Amino acid sequence: ESTTAQLDPRVQAFLNSGPKRLFIGGQYVESISGRTFATKDPSTGEVLTYVFEADKEDVDRAVEAAEKALQGPWAKVTPSERGKLIWKLADLMEEHAEALAQLDTLDNGKPIRETRNADVPLAIDHFRYYAGWATKVHGEVIDNSVGSHMFTYTRREPVGVVGQIIPWNFPLLMAAWKLGAALATGNVVVLKTAEQTPLSALYLSELIQEAGFPDGVVNILSGFGPTAGGAIVQHPRIRKVAFTGSTEVGKLIMQQAAGNLKRVSLELGGKSPNIVFPDADFSKAIPGALLGIFFNQGQVCCAGSRLFVHKKVYDNFLADMCSYAGKIKQGPGLDETTEIGPLVSDEQFDRVSYYLNKGREEGANPILGGQPLDRPGYFVPPTIFADVRDDMTIVKEEIFGPVVAALPFDDEEQIADVIRRANTSEYGLAAGVWTTDARKAHRVAHELEVGTVWVNCYNVFDAAVPFGGYKQSGFGREMGNYALELYTQVKAIWMNLG
Ligand code: ADP
Repeated sequence: ESTTAQLDPRVQAFLNSGPKRLFIGGQYVESISGRTFATKDPSTGEVLTYVFEADKEDVDRAVEAAEKALQGPWAKVTPSERGKLIWKLADLMEEHAEALAQLDTLDNGKPIRETRNADVPLAIDHFRYYAGWATKVHGEVIDNSVGSHMFTYTRREPVGVVGQIIPWNFPLLMAAWKLGAALATGNVVVLKTAEQTPLSALYLSELIQEAGFPDGVVNILSGFGPTAGGAIVQHPRIRKVAFTGSTEVGKLIMQQAAGNLKRVSLELGGKSPNIVFPDADFSKAIPGALLGIFFNQGQVCCAGSRLFVHKKVYDNFLADMCSYAGKIKQGPGLDETTEIGPLVSDEQFDRVSYYLNKGREEGANPILGGQPLDRPGYFVPPTIFADVRDDMTIVKEEIFGPVVAALPFDDEEQIADVIRRANTSEYGLAAGVWTTDARKAHRVAHELEVGTVWVNCYNVFDAAVPFGGYKQSGFGREMGNYALELYTQVKAIWMNLG
């Protein structure tokens, strides 16, 4: 009996309609160069379809379309109507949930049970959350000391044309994270998808059209980083760029955006510590540690890739992890029983394979996995390295794959040492803490230099809760009311009533 999901007819139609075009000004257009590139199924390495490749001229066209919308129809849409449009989009996504889930699974490789249960519902919920904010962003009246004849108030105005560059690890969800707050606050958007996963956002663009957003409010470009991405970052009339991706590219973007002092928000890499104290509830901590690193094949910026386990329980904990993890079912994403899929691309496969070798070379012991699978597609099995030292490459560098480095620690009452080791990383995106002692949990949570701490849980997200980095994991907060800051600017108005 086949457990492979039946391909949704809408997905079939979408994939069979020839090279996918760019979404600019409410139209589907070919790129000016006419060039296309392939997007592949990571479980086989075969081409799914082709997409047109945007370059600088296409970014220029998208900016013009966006400006036209900003000065024209979008300016007349009231906050309440904006909220309704965003809510309508969420409703349409619900109607098309299976197609969206399948497209992300096909394009990225991730298991269909995850796209159905996490990526798509979280993306829908994200839009609903920001639909509510559309009517709740406002300025204030400020009492001033100049005199009672002076009336002062503020307005929160949209930034204008915003550029958004997203990665391939959660293609639809990252588009939602970027679009939700930007649209709720009245901006217009030029969004570039990752070259590995252009499909679900293009499908989403059809729903954006159907929801009734004015032409040009959202423009979606498929293309590569240095060309289309670079053009967004350097465009003089794009006033803000929001980026999610590697720290390396984040630095480049910040430098380039300085050319015209574009506002920048960056959500970058991580090497997140996940700390298991001996008093933890292991029935939760073991699956939690596994989820922390193997969710989405480990291709998660906040993956719990440095697992600190107290010396007293280290051996047993790792043995139990291995026996659980050994049962994780790996296979093509469309198989409904698959729990872990392939990596996204051959490039990512090579990168993770490099770290598997590096770990062994430097003396770490792979007690589970450790070798890429010899089969078509980009499969790397869940891998646990024991006998790891803090100075090893696999502890210092972000691998972005299903590879965890397990490090013992031996603090007794003093927990300063494990916190110091956790904080040595230049990254500071997230951390996990497993303990039944609430006092210890709070203390550790306060001392970790990271933007998110999960206590007795991991990889939990909600549209209302801010997410973003400390240190070289970036700055700016997405989600919650915090993201509204990224997409509004404050105007102070003085009225002399004297
Ligand atoms: P990864 O290495 O995991 O692919 P990247 O940071 O390279 O992560 O990519 C994340 C996103 O940034 C993608 O959309 C990619 O096309 C884009 N990107 C890559 N390089 C640049 C660049 N120089 N300028 C702008 N965007 C870029």
